[in-house]
Amino acid sequence: MTIPRSHPRYESLVRRERLVRAWKQGVVVLEGLVAQGRGEAWDYLFGEETIAPALVAERAAAAHLLAASRAVISVNGNVAALAAREVVQLARAIPARIEVNLFHRTESRVKKIVRILERAGARNVLGLRPNARIPGIESKRALSHRDGVFGADVVLVPLEDGDRAEALVRMGKVVISVDLNPLSRTSQRATIPIVDELTRAILNLKKFSEELKANPEEAVRVRRAYRRSGNLGAGYSFVEWRLRHLRRGLVRREKRPAAKKRKRATHRAAGRHRQ
Ligand code: ATP
Ligand code: MG
Repeated sequence: MTIPRSHPRYESLVRRERLVRAWKQGVVVLEGLVAQGRGEAWDYLFGEETIAPALVAERAAAAHLLAASRAVISVNGNVAALAAREVVQLARAIPARIEVNLFHRTESRVKKIVRILERAGARNVLGLRPNARIPGIESKRALSHRDGVFGADVVLVPLEDGDRAEALVRMGKVVISVDLNPLSRTSQRATIPIVDELTRAILNLKKFSEELKANPEEAVRVRRAYRRSGNLGAGYSFVEWRLRHLRRGLVRREKRPAAKKRKRATHRAAGRHRQ
C-alpha cells in the first residue's frame, strides 16, 4: 500500500507499515505489533507530536548519556524496524555501545536484528554471545553482556518491558526509557522516562547530544535541573488539558445547532413584529 504524503497521519501509517513488513520477515513478533497499537493510541492523544515535557526529558537524557562512562543502547525488534539508522547515528554521537536485547529471544531473531543494525552502519553490536544475567529476571530475558547493558552505568531502553526496566534500576543504573504510555511500569520505574514516539525521541536525543557536547556547562545544568516527578506530572497535565480541550470542542459543536435554532426563532419573531 502506498500512503499519500498528504495523509494527516502519514508518519504514523508509514511506521505501522514498516512494522508489519518486519513482522513478515521475522524481525518483529506479534506482541510487538500489539505494543505498537498501544503506543499509537497514546500518540493519538498527544496529537502525534512531541509534547514539551518529553523535550525536557530528552534533553536531560542526552546530558546523562554524554556524562556516562559506559553508555549502552538496548535494541529490540520494534526499535530495529522503526529506527535502526537513527539509533546507529545516536550511538556514534554519544558514543555508546549497542546491544540487541529481546523479550522473546531466539538466536535467529537476534542475528536478523544485528544484521539490520550493521547494514545501518553499526559495528561490534552485542547480543549474540551474552555472558551475564540481569539479577531478578527469569529465563532468557535476563541474558546480557558485561560490556553491554549488564556493565553499563547509563542505559537507553526504548520500548522496554516493565520488569526489566525495574531490574536495571535496582542494579543502580541510570535507566532512560522511551515509551508513549506514561502509565506503563517502564515509565513509572525508569530514572528518566521519555514519553514520546520512538523515532522522534531518538532524533531529538541525537540533536540534544550534539548540542550539549558543544556546551558542557549547560549539560551539567540540564542534568541537575531535571526533576523526574515534575516532568511526569507535566505530562499528565498535558493529557488533562488535551481532554478538556477536546470536551470543549464537543460542547461548542453541540451548542451550534441550538444557536441556529435561537437565531431562526429570533428571525421569526422579528418577522412577526414586522407584520
Ligand atoms: P509495562 O510492562 O511497562 O507495564 P506494557 O506491557 O504495556 O507496559 P510493553 O509491551 O512491556 O508494555 O512495552 C511496550 C510499550 O511501548 C507500550 O507501553 C507502548 O505504549 C509503547 N510503544 C509501542 N510502540 C511505541 C513507539 N513507536 N514509540 C513509543 N512507545 C511505543
Ligand atoms: Mg510489559
